[in-house]
Amino acid sequence: MKKRDSHYDILFEQVQIGPVKARNRFYQVPHCNGMGYLRPNTLAAMRGVKAEGGWAVVCTEEVEIHANSDNGSAVEGRLWDDGDIPALAKMAEAVHEHGALAGVELVHGGYSNANNYSRIVPIAPSLTSVNSYDPVQARAMTKSDIRDFRRWHRKAALRSKRAGFDLVYVYAGHNLTLLMHFLSRRFNKRNDEYGGSLENRTRLFREVLEETIDAVGDSCAIAVRFAVDELLGPKGITCESEGREVVEMLAEIPDLWDVNISEWENDSATSRFEKEGYQEPYISFVKSLTSKPVVGVGRYTSADNMVSLIQRGVMDMIGAARPSIADPFLPKKIEEGRIDEIRECIGCNICVAGDWLSVPIRCTQNPTMGEEWRRSWHPERIGPKKSDDVVLIVGGGPAGLECALSLGKRGYDVILAEASEVLGGRVSKESQLPGLSEWRRILDYRETMLKKMDTVKIYRSSKLNLRDIIEFSSKDKFGFSHVFLATGARWRRDGIARKHQNPIPGLKKIRVMTPDEVMNGVSPSGRVVIFDDEHYYMGGVIAEKLRLEGLKVILVTPAPDISNWTHHTMEQRRIQSRLLELGVELATQQNLVSVSSNEVELACVFTDRRTRHECETLVLVTERLPNDEIYNALNVRQEELKEAGIKTLQCIGDCFAPGIIAAAVHSGHLAAREFEENSSYEVPFLRERVVV
Ligand code: ADP
Ligand code: SF4
Repeated sequence: MKKRDSHYDILFEQVQIGPVKARNRFYQVPHCNGMGYLRPNTLAAMRGVKAEGGWAVVCTEEVEIHANSDNGSAVEGRLWDDGDIPALAKMAEAVHEHGALAGVELVHGGYSNANNYSRIVPIAPSLTSVNSYDPVQARAMTKSDIRDFRRWHRKAALRSKRAGFDLVYVYAGHNLTLLMHFLSRRFNKRNDEYGGSLENRTRLFREVLEETIDAVGDSCAIAVRFAVDELLGPKGITCESEGREVVEMLAEIPDLWDVNISEWENDSATSRFEKEGYQEPYISFVKSLTSKPVVGVGRYTSADNMVSLIQRGVMDMIGAARPSIADPFLPKKIEEGRIDEIRECIGCNICVAGDWLSVPIRCTQNPTMGEEWRRSWHPERIGPKKSDDVVLIVGGGPAGLECALSLGKRGYDVILAEASEVLGGRVSKESQLPGLSEWRRILDYRETMLKKMDTVKIYRSSKLNLRDIIEFSSKDKFGFSHVFLATGARWRRDGIARKHQNPIPGLKKIRVMTPDEVMNGVSPSGRVVIFDDEHYYMGGVIAEKLRLEGLKVILVTPAPDISNWTHHTMEQRRIQSRLLELGVELATQQNLVSVSSNEVELACVFTDRRTRHECETLVLVTERLPNDEIYNALNVRQEELKEAGIKTLQCIGDCFAPGIIAAAVHSGHLAAREFEENSSYEVPFLRERVVV
């Protein structure tokens, strides 16, 4: 094992947290994952891998304490009754197996839960609508409801202990919790001893905290998760006023303070909007008020920043959700002097989308995330090669790079040919768009790792055609017998996507551009209309870029709002606000129906009412076409391939089917895992079935 620089030793000091001891300062804070109560094996395996990767504390997602707080279709943890203990015990066991402490984040969601499943009327400090658009109102809690809630929390704490957890949370954060609702002047309108003054609004938090300590504090550490600032200014809790006062009031009561900002979209802001360490200004006061260990987050992936945070007294333990998802082995890599091998989170929030979609978490950087149990994928280990065959990969984008890296790890000799001088494919281009610079890490990690591999040979500026591939396969040239086409995709220029199944009429009469051209540096002129029928980030980010370049831009979309899918990455609000602030004109719920010279015609998606808008350049952000011409041409020449000694031919990534970057990375990884393996399953992974 390489020796780490002693500068990082401070990160490997033990931390006493009440009655338990953490082996180092790496702390995986609670994070949702779409596994929860429905997929306990999947969950246990995923958390176990984090513990194996060196995290000292590995926590659950939020775990509902009672049917009175039912998160509906979101798949979170549950400890409603004793029957829920075994599923979570499995996770605690998996974490313990690798020497880490297991933490559980108990939650009552208050008015944040519509309770669509349990049909129990939700509760809140005062009468209020639930915070989704469900037609449900939460009722004001009576004293007896308060007593019930305290009893449920205590019982859930006792169950947590029985499930084997070492840390039990009292959770008042993210504005998603009943305790936070009680703290809030906006939602707590009570005039009894639980409302009014801040001391009164903190009463329930204090009671629950003390009762949790009383119930399980002898052997479990009691952690508080508290959002010290809601980023709402004087309307909300701020770190200068009430956030600070709450910490002052409860300073020495819990065994650990896990502090952040709310709401979740602020806490887990994407790299497009916030950079590493963005929470420090809000949370840095906490340590001066308590002697107990403090944990904070801020998408920390830099070991130097982590050391600085400890040395400057900002926090005692480095909290991480996304950095631990992108690289479950981050602590081990620092410990073993392999900092350059850290797969840094790019801050894209594809992981978060899994939770919103109620499916197991995915990660752009880490294709094994969510696949630990069902496919037995490990982020650091992969099966050895099955033959001495040589593999050619055409295209060095995310799919080609990931495939090369994973085949290289398996021990295969790989030749990677990339047309351009630079690797990275779409990532090297997209990372130059406003706010997306961290996306380059997809390339950086793979390039660094590939440089260390003498089994993978990379040829840049090497655009291959059909003939090259057949010719180069001969034994006296490169001698490969398998070909993966990872040649990517290109944006269409005919407008075909969701709204149009045929080309938009009149496109020849106007200057039409695609995102590829914009990214390649071609400048639009005059008034620009962007038609976004793709709905993820590209339409919005192109609008931002062109507006910043001083162009007049109108962004048209048939969807109800801009970059609609980014609701799942929790960016939508910020994207739309930024574009409005920049002066981009937004035309939502509008289809672009026809084009004439210097004009586009829009139609309201509800009434078909038409309007005309001046336009000199039209940018179409619609579908993409796979660059599969070489694949198709090779595929119909099976005899010729056979003669050339090419045994297999496969399309991966965007060339197989255009999609998000995470899908391309996954596709490259899957192809490498399945290469020369028997994978003829009906369902290619294990499932967790409901027992009947
Ligand atoms: P993916 O997301 O599937 O990895 P990308 O579009 O990001 O796809 O990357 C595809 C890469 O393939 C690009 O870097 C492109 O330059 C390269 N490429 C495309 N066609 C060829 C070819 N004929 N020979 C070599 N490289 C190619
Ligand atoms: Fe980071 Fe994106 Fe992976 Fe989430 S999906 S952990 S934000 S790289």
